[in-house]
Amino acid sequence: MPQAIPTHRSTAHAAIRQETARQHDRSPARREAHAFYCTARWKRYRRWFLARHPMCEAKGCDEPATEVHHREPVRKRPDLAFVEANCEANCRPCHSRETIKGARP
Ligand SMILES: [Zn+2]
Repeated sequence: MPQAIPTHRSTAHAAIRQETARQHDRSPARREAHAFYCTARWKRYRRWFLARHPMCEAKGCDEPATEVHHREPVRKRPDLAFVEANCEANCRPCHSRETIKGARP
């Protein structure tokens, strides 16, 4: 009797899944930052900050703010994560732009 029964899962499919996971989460620092944004403390701070800064603070933009941008990224300066002066209220499009800019060297 053969012991190895072929399954429907192909190795190619597994490789694609692994590659996708890598693209979403490239480094341990990124994983840490992601964990940070899930904390109750951050969610509380974010609500407080957006109540004080209800409008997007990007130049020339006056959309309602929905995101809190860190001028110094949390992965670089975790000590500034809850410092108001290190944070900027942004609407979603401006925040995406800031984050992309910040991710580049
Ligand atoms: Zn904006």
